[in-house]
Amino acid sequence: MEKIYLDYAATTPTDPQVIAAMEPYFFEKFGNASSLHAYGQEAKKALEDSRQAVAESINAKPEEIVFTSGGTESDNSALLGVAYALEKKGRHIITSSIEHHAVSEPAKLLEKRGFRITYLPVDKYGMVSPEDLKQAISNETIFISIMHANNEIGTIQPIAELAKIAKEKGIYFHTDAVQTFGHIPINVNELNVDLLSLSAHKFYGPKGVGALYIRKGTRVETFLLGGDQERGRRASTHNISGIVGCSRAVQLCLENMENETKLQTALRDRLIKEIPAKVDAVRLNGHPTKRLPNNVNFSIKYIEGESMLLSLDMLGIAVSTGSACTSTSLEPSHVLLAIGLDHETAHGSLRITMGRWTRESDIDYLMEKLPMVVKKLRAMSPLYEPGK
Ligand SMILES: *Cc1c(COP(=O)(O)O)cnc(C)c1O
Repeated sequence: MEKIYLDYAATTPTDPQVIAAMEPYFFEKFGNASSLHAYGQEAKKALEDSRQAVAESINAKPEEIVFTSGGTESDNSALLGVAYALEKKGRHIITSSIEHHAVSEPAKLLEKRGFRITYLPVDKYGMVSPEDLKQAISNETIFISIMHANNEIGTIQPIAELAKIAKEKGIYFHTDAVQTFGHIPINVNELNVDLLSLSAHKFYGPKGVGALYIRKGTRVETFLLGGDQERGRRASTHNISGIVGCSRAVQLCLENMENETKLQTALRDRLIKEIPAKVDAVRLNGHPTKRLPNNVNFSIKYIEGESMLLSLDMLGIAVSTGSACTSTSLEPSHVLLAIGLDHETAHGSLRITMGRWTRESDIDYLMEKLPMVVKKLRAMSPLYEPGK
């Protein structure tokens, strides 16, 4: 059976060139970067070279990069770290209604601790309005966090414009760039952000490693204590192999981005055209053009996303859905509700995300199977009337 992976937004395979770069750092060069002997210094050099490479890739300075355990930790640290550092200055935080849970859950925790949180709405494409942000800012506002691109619907936010508003008011701005890094160029100065989150496993690096960019001078309270690693900003023995893997993955992305973006955009636009032509009663979720080059998200009406996912899985095709009927929550994705979908349409969503190893033939195979799967499932749906 064919096996086709179209869920790159969930995670990516580790590039074999990344694995090769990591390999020496398990046995041969296993040192602790905090040790003063030669083993330690060898690890320390790998650490600082990696930091340099990651910093350069986003136009930051090496000392502005803190290596973390991934996107979740970077996002949690940004929100909680700034909130706790600045709570005497003010207790109001602004974020959007479509953030990843790694941002929205710490926001909820802060709400419980007495902070006021504003969740900005988005339009039908999932776009935050700069006007809404301006309106939401008060004298108490200390922090704004708005994601660069959404992991479900792929919409890319006008971060530079939003962050400029924050800068004019002297408010820290964080963006979760976990989905954009490696897909679109990132320059922290052009984006005007003070903090930015990255995760290696979303760009062909290993799982469990990421980075938080912290602009020089930004006040962030540390919450991993017990060592002076990362200039005292994050205790814990460095994950050297992971960090080396992260930096190799960064370099490969820079080398390949232009080509990959071109290829993936073509496949994306093919699906955006072909799915509505071959399947009736569908709706594209997210912005038609201001979206990640590798993201396609459709609501396929009158069927349930999870049944679709499982049927495609039986044919060897791995995709994702914003519906989660069999998991603990019956609620469809907050992102799909925020762009105005009713529950039923939100439950019928299908996310297809492509990456480095996606080929035209994979999309051919998907387009051969998808209409058939939809037809079969709709035949069992009491709500569906053909041609409606
Ligand atoms: C995957 C993801 C995260 C979490 O990153 P991990 O490294 O898996 O913890 C955070 N934000 C977004 C937008 C993501 O897609």
